[in-house]
Formats: sequence, C-alpha cells, structure tokens
Amino acid sequence: MIKVGIPHSLFYFYYYPLWKTFFEELGAQVVRSHPTSRLTVDQGVRLAVDEACFPIKVYFGHVKELADRGVDYLFVPRLVSVEPKSYICPKFMGLPDMIRACISHLPPLIDITVDVSKTDKFLHKDIIRVGRIFGASSKSIRAAYQKGLQELRFCRALATQGLTPQEAIRVWEGDQAPEVGPERLRLGVLGHGYSLYDGVISMNLIQHLRTLGCRAILAEHVDPGVIEIHAATLCKRVFWTLGRNMVGSALHFDQDEQIDGIVYLACFGCGPDSLIGEIIERRIVNKPFIMLTVDEHTGEAGMITRLEAFVDMIERNRRRAIENHFSAHG
Ligand code: SF4
Repeated sequence: MIKVGIPHSLFYFYYYPLWKTFFEELGAQVVRSHPTSRLTVDQGVRLAVDEACFPIKVYFGHVKELADRGVDYLFVPRLVSVEPKSYICPKFMGLPDMIRACISHLPPLIDITVDVSKTDKFLHKDIIRVGRIFGASSKSIRAAYQKGLQELRFCRALATQGLTPQEAIRVWEGDQAPEVGPERLRLGVLGHGYSLYDGVISMNLIQHLRTLGCRAILAEHVDPGVIEIHAATLCKRVFWTLGRNMVGSALHFDQDEQIDGIVYLACFGCGPDSLIGEIIERRIVNKPFIMLTVDEHTGEAGMITRLEAFVDMIERNRRRAIENHFSAHG
C-alpha cells in the first residue's frame, strides 16, 4: 500500500479530514506526523531558513520526521487561495520549494496547487493529476474528493459545538469530546489556527485558559456571515482569508456582551500578524485585550503568568463595577 505522509502542522488544522479521506478513498495509507514536540521544534529550527516564522519552522520538523519514517510520498500542498478574491500568506505558496531546497533525501512531494481566487478549474485538474499517482480513474478521483469535502464539512460542524479544530479532528476520528469545566469567564481567543491549536506553538494557551476557568470562544465558533459583516466595516477589504476571519471575529467579540475579554496569539516574524494585530488592537474599544507573541524561545511559565494576570484584571474590574453600584447610604 502506498504511504502518504501528512505533516501534523499548518494546513493540517484546517483540512486534514479532507485530504486524509481523499487519499484513503484512493487506496493509500495516510501517515500523520506526531503532534509537535520539542524535538520537532529543534529539527525544524535547524533545517529552516532563519527568516521563517515559528509555524513554518515547526512544519519543517514535521516533514523531517515523516521523511525519516520512510513514507512513499509527502503531501505538501501549495496553498495560494482557498476562497474567491482572497489569499493565504505567501509563505504557504513557497512551501514545497522551501522544503525541497532545505531538506535533502526527501520522498517525492505531492505539491498540489490550491488556488481558487479566480476559478476552481485548475484545482480540479490538479486533483486528477494527483489521483493518477494511485492509478485511479477520473470518476473515482472526483468521488474521493467529494467524500473528503463531506467529511471536512462534518468535522467543521463538530468544531462549532465549542471544540477546537484539533479536538474536532480527534472526535471525528472516534475519540471522546473533552469535558468542559465550570466557567468563570468567556474569552474570545484569536490567532492563526496552526499556532493556536498546536500545543507547543501556543504553549497550551487554550488548555491554560480552561484551567483558569475560562471558556475559549474561537473564530470557528462564530457564524461566517457575522465575521464577514464585521470585517466589511474596515475601510479596505482584508484580502488574507485568515486575517479577515480574525479581524471580523475580533470586532464581533468586542460587541458581544457575553465576551469578557479578548486574547490574541501572534507569532514573532509573522508579516500578516504585524498588520492584523495592529488593526485589531486599535479597533477593540469595549473589551480588555491582550496580545501574546511567541517564538521558539518563549517559555510556558511566562505565558501562564500573563494569562493569570489578565484573568485577575478582568475579575477585579468586574468586582469594582459591582462595588461602584452600592449606595453610600446603605
Ligand atoms: S501568516 Fe504569519 S505565521 Fe502564518 S505562515 Fe505567514 S508569516 Fe507565518
């Protein structure tokens, strides 16, 4: 059976159910790299160019792990655009080239180009090209892709039930949904999915918030129509898909009375974050806001301290607001 390696990083958090189903329907065995560990980070940092952002470096570590595990093909798509008139960060466009240039002794890459900014005609042609590797007919390749889309929709629907996309993938694979503890606060949590839902990159941010009794409300929990309405209030359209999602979600959280504060996770060395983070920071006027920037040198203890201080500050403000309403006359 042909083994196809899928790195547990970057697009994995958004599209794994689609591509896993697609390859399995074509008769391949999908091998996923292990969740990010310190070793993954160290290998990635050693192999990637210094200028790369933290998530890209981590991706290199995952690719190296799969190459060492002897897969027959590595799935490294070239993501350009996943919706009309919008784009993904340019680093995704050059990913297969960067991987080939920096890592030697690689298995062949399946570097399908996903660019639906103007039309999806070329994507469908490329899907057929990839499917031919497994000796499948055009009809069965198309059917495999449609099945993959169906599984992706199902998994995304699971994520809207209060799970993170990472947890939704686990539930989709048959695991139990995690227990949600008592809720002290509800915080809007923003960031690129591949940073936020990766335990090592995010330093377990969502888990720490839950331990502090906070419920994390994510962009995936907000109606896409609501996100678009809020994002459209900017004077210029944000043409990055993920950036627009974050801006729209942030503006929605800012006006949602159920939300007590907003946490934004940014990555050091990220071009889009330097702009999107700035826009969000300026436009949030009603809610406490904290931006946490991480890189490969960030320590988890520092992250926990900041989150504890943020949560304490929100609760103190809340207590003060209640005390200020006590009558001085009893
Ligand atoms: S958006 Fe930022 S974090 Fe994501 S790949 Fe691009 S530079 Fe890296």
